Amino acid sequence: MDASILNYKVNDNVGDFLSKEKKLYIAGKWVDPDSGKSFDVEDPATGKKIASCSAGNSKDIDLAVKAARKAFDSGVWTDMSNSEKGKIIWKIGDLIDKHNEELAQLESLDNGKPVAVAGAADVPLSSDIFRYMAGWATKIEGNTIPYSCLYTPGAKYHSYTLREPVGVCGQIIPWNFPLLMAAWKIAPALTAGCTIVLKPAEQTPLSALRLTEIIHDAGILPEGVLNVVTGFGEDAGAPLAEHPMVDKVAFTGSTEVGKIITKAASGNLKKVSLELGGKSPTIIFPDADIDAAIAGAASAIFFNHGQCCCAGSRLFAHEKVFDKVSEGIAKIAENIKVGPGMEASTEMGPLVSDEQYQKVAGYIESGKTEGGEVIAGGNYDNSSGGHFVHPTVFAKTNADMTLVKEEIFGPVVCAQPFSDESLEKIANEANNTNFGLAASVWTKDISVAHKMAAKIRAGTVWVNCHNIFDASLPFGGYKESGWGREMGHEVLKNYTEVKAVTVNL
Ligand code: NAP
Ligand code: MG
Repeated sequence: MDASILNYKVNDNVGDFLSKEKKLYIAGKWVDPDSGKSFDVEDPATGKKIASCSAGNSKDIDLAVKAARKAFDSGVWTDMSNSEKGKIIWKIGDLIDKHNEELAQLESLDNGKPVAVAGAADVPLSSDIFRYMAGWATKIEGNTIPYSCLYTPGAKYHSYTLREPVGVCGQIIPWNFPLLMAAWKIAPALTAGCTIVLKPAEQTPLSALRLTEIIHDAGILPEGVLNVVTGFGEDAGAPLAEHPMVDKVAFTGSTEVGKIITKAASGNLKKVSLELGGKSPTIIFPDADIDAAIAGAASAIFFNHGQCCCAGSRLFAHEKVFDKVSEGIAKIAENIKVGPGMEASTEMGPLVSDEQYQKVAGYIESGKTEGGEVIAGGNYDNSSGGHFVHPTVFAKTNADMTLVKEEIFGPVVCAQPFSDESLEKIANEANNTNFGLAASVWTKDISVAHKMAAKIRAGTVWVNCHNIFDASLPFGGYKESGWGREMGHEVLKNYTEVKAVTVNL
């Protein structure tokens, strides 16, 4: 490829990968798309094309689903000993770590995030979910169940449950953590004995494709177990969600598309799990360690440029500390170095796409129009071709404002004070949203912390921290933030069916 397109020195594998033709991965082979078409992948820091990927359509999805179906029905993966499956899944984790540098660079070039963050967070978190899941491969168990069968007195039965793989899984992922979202989907599905068709986001297909190539080159998965079809949501995602041979669809992305997926899945009533949007509150009580709360609340919204489903985008601080907190976060915002993700000094990269840039800029303008006071940032700049939005803090916001109600998915926080109200009232305010993904509570009072944790209607509550993830912790949403949980052993429920077996002794 033309090296001048990349302004940075990159790992040799990255250069090779970007320059070559990227095909679809179906039945263990790299194949051309039915359409013969490709789409451009850009570096969001420059707006320049850095690669092109195959534009998959419903015919490609059909082939991929049939390959996954064949692999599932043959038992080549499902019937492999669980110990062997576990070793292969562990090995994928090792391979991810071995390729840390290039995967981190691809992630930065494709998504815009700082390369150091990708190398320290996205890549190791991705390998870790494979290792965590590898251990579960030998531990997916049923129960023996005592019975009280009232209408057959004196009879003896032996009843037990089996936990079996749900089957062929369609997995549709977003662009905010491209490699990690692929890992969160692929690792548990493999662990449960399922086969997969993965559809990466059109904006960020590169790391999932490179991971697939690494797995393919290692020769460790039987053909058809993992299939990857790149392409647009309407062309490749929709037929995957609809396909009658798919048993389960797992989706991460917008609530709007999540609702479309549930309708598409209804044709054969395939199982659906959804990890959707959020509008997570960060609640700071006056007794909190205020310096830690300021740093934590800033990181809660600015990490990954606010492009996190659990971003702490609604800040509630007690009126006694409100000015100190909001000014502290504003100061942090003003000092964040915004620039290309591949530059070592960059702390916040560009937003992923022009579409996302326009959307976030629109919210900033609506906040100004609706009477919000910008105390940091509020500006955005795409004159270099990159999609740069400065970390923005709005004070004087209220629950009726558009930017307080809707998911912005950018580095914009809306601050509101609260007074000495009851915990019930504060929790009601925090819960005043259609979403229910996460929240953080900042206080030294252990009783307040636990009471608030109980009152918040969200799948994750952090106390004196935010954005703490671990492969062992279930993650997912209440209300319109989704169905089911990712990670932890909870996720295995998404990928298994329970069968009750009763034997007449
Ligand atoms: P999106 O449209 O929900 O995209 C997520 C995934 O769904 C992508 O792979 C997308 O493919 C695919 N998709 C789109 N339309 C589909 C359809 N009709 N059927 C099946 N799959 C479909 O998200 P987005 O447009 O990239 O971002 C829009 C907003 O979603 C963001 O501003 C943000 O608010 C939210 N979001 C949330 C998360 C999260 O983690 N909860 C992540 C990303 C975005 P294409 O990429 O090819 O369209
Ligand atoms: Mg989209």
